[in-house]
Amino acid sequence: MKRYLKLILIFILFLSLGCKTTSKITTVNPDSSTDKYKVYEQAVLWQQNAAEYKALCFQAYNTAKLNLENYKGKQFLRPLAVITDIDETVLDNSPYNARMILSGKGYTRESWLSWGKELKARPIPGALDFFKEAFKMGITIFYVSNRFDAQKPETIANLKKVGFPGVDENHVLLRTNTSSKEARRKQIEEKYQVIMLFGDNLTDFSEEFEKQPTAKRNALVEKMKTQFGKKYIVLPNPIYGDWETKGIFEGSYKWTTKQKDSIRKAKLRLN
Ligand SMILES: [Mg+2]
Repeated sequence: MKRYLKLILIFILFLSLGCKTTSKITTVNPDSSTDKYKVYEQAVLWQQNAAEYKALCFQAYNTAKLNLENYKGKQFLRPLAVITDIDETVLDNSPYNARMILSGKGYTRESWLSWGKELKARPIPGALDFFKEAFKMGITIFYVSNRFDAQKPETIANLKKVGFPGVDENHVLLRTNTSSKEARRKQIEEKYQVIMLFGDNLTDFSEEFEKQPTAKRNALVEKMKTQFGKKYIVLPNPIYGDWETKGIFEGSYKWTTKQKDSIRKAKLRLN
């Protein structure tokens, strides 16, 4: 009789454990919309809270300021210019990503346009100081971004609202037919000597980085290593960029949340 009782108890324990496991699986659904964006939480928290993020931005813009010294009091054949990206280089859109995490709703053209119209993007630390100084020196600033061309009025308004200099129709060049910035860079280089480029994505500097996988992107950075901090000034962006879409996910947008999770795990380096 005692043996039966023991067996029944073990059976009940087994059942209750089984139930617990099942309930765990149902509460953490890898394809649920909230979980899909939760993966960005740490990155958004870092950008919005880490003093180290701020310090890195200051480091980038302080380096750029030092470079300006090389151009003071000298004559050049063509007028000097700098080219800067906008999002995550001079304007901080992390609240848009924070909203995505909390609402469980992903990127849509509509929500992105509506965020832009709010004019709430704050300046990236150090950016205002640098561009004001460059502008005072007579250097022309081109804001070259892949925001939709339809966003031009609110982009100009947001940049002006927070105090960026030299912002107008002719100096804010957004995406019309292609996401490649090469044609826009070439157009500027016809008339100007471009002394520095600013960006959070390597395609903000050179077309060589376009549509490249992780290994190639890293090899190219090795090849161009002397340019960083000199001609190319890089800002940190842990939330999004080609490092993820073209690198981690190899240019494909077909992955499910579950597959993305497996890809991320498979790409963790263990030694
Ligand atoms: Mg950017």
